[in-house]
Amino acid sequence: MERMHVARTRPIVVVGGGIIGLLTARELAMAGHEVCLFEQGAVGREASWAAGGILSPLHPWRYPDAVTRLAQASVALYPALCSGLAAATGIDPEWLPSGLLRLDLEEAQAAMSWAGRFGVPLESRDLADVCPGRGLSGPGLWMPDIAQVRSPRLMQALAAALRSLKVTIHEQASVEGFTHARERVTGLVANGEMVAASRVVVCAGAWSQPLLARYGLALPVRPMRGQMIVIQTPPGLLRPMILSATRYLVPRRDGAVLVGSTMEDVGFVKETTDAGREDLLKAAHAIMPGLSAHPVTHHWAGLRPSSPEGIPYIGEHPEIRGLVVNTGHFRNGIVLAPASARLAADLILGRDSTLDPAPYTLDRVSAGGADGTVLK
Ligand SMILES: Cc1cc2nc3c(=O)[nH]c(=O)nc-3n(C[C@H](O)[C@H](O)[C@H](O)COP(=O)(O)OP(=O)(O)OC[C@H]3O[C@@H](n4cnc5c(N)ncnc54)[C@H](O)[C@@H]3O)c2cc1C
Repeated sequence: MERMHVARTRPIVVVGGGIIGLLTARELAMAGHEVCLFEQGAVGREASWAAGGILSPLHPWRYPDAVTRLAQASVALYPALCSGLAAATGIDPEWLPSGLLRLDLEEAQAAMSWAGRFGVPLESRDLADVCPGRGLSGPGLWMPDIAQVRSPRLMQALAAALRSLKVTIHEQASVEGFTHARERVTGLVANGEMVAASRVVVCAGAWSQPLLARYGLALPVRPMRGQMIVIQTPPGLLRPMILSATRYLVPRRDGAVLVGSTMEDVGFVKETTDAGREDLLKAAHAIMPGLSAHPVTHHWAGLRPSSPEGIPYIGEHPEIRGLVVNTGHFRNGIVLAPASARLAADLILGRDSTLDPAPYTLDRVSAGGADGTVLK
């Protein structure tokens, strides 16, 4: 991308207050720029709030290098990001290197051949060491370095951090379109009002494509519903995250065990269903039978911004300069967010980037299918 001249008189406007928008706004504000953020609902209440917060793709070996590079760069940024946010805002995102135990042997073998140094194969007798007294059985793979964050707390901490960085956050402010002149963006229209902008960054998650469609972009980004439930247990009952095939458990410090997640192609319908609840409950009891003694306390759904192969779109509109997109993070938006935000800011500000932006451009030809369903 050609280096962009950033006019100081008009703010850079970020559209969407999920993790991608909040972190992108933070990068730009920390670089000294005036930033405004527009969110159609309340900040941090959509997919980013719904996420389990596992800081790794569930099956990393299924993903192209473009995803792996963003994930590795982000994982390296997370500890300092979370400790810095906790210190600055008093809200702890609970970054926790709880490790991930995989109970699916077939996947464990694939995992070992992908990157043996990240995992330790376990026989039944060793499982008891990683997860004592929990009734787990069978061979598995222990990945001790995989961490988690508590996504809703991360959203709250980021919003608080942005306010102290003087980012103006407009909630209940739906962006309806953009204004541009001589192939350069000049602003946007939100709740029927024109807003001037030097740059606009679209981080609208699953809603990005309807917004961009009128400006000649046809990105294959669309919603993919995921449901989760919470089983409340005494703190410390379960410590590592556990994955078996497509279902997983994420234990929080306070004993809440998140069970995720479904993958449903139902458009923009965000409702939870009885079938989803039963599916997750059955999976949780199969992974750890002792969970059947504890109550389900929460059930929610979120809309992932799916993309072919799970590779996000990070780059400038090919014809409207200054209109930048950062979206399509599919199942991995929490883990990919810090490096994605930094790359987007690098492109906007003309900074050198440690990541090659080429795999993420908006006009790339993807080898994958648009539904991304291979990435369960
Ligand atoms: C059940 C579930 C579990 C998940 N688990 C994990 C996990 O463990 N690890 C992981 O890395 N990822 C996980 N994900 C994926 C992750 O949540 C998403 O990839 C990520 O949250 C996407 O972030 P985002 O900011 O692009 O989207 P969102 O968080 O959805 O934010 C987009 C925002 O844009 C706003 N918006 C949209 N259109 C407009 C408009 N026109 N004007 C103004 N605002 C607008 C929306 O209201 C929304 O707040 C999970 C997702 C789900 C659903």
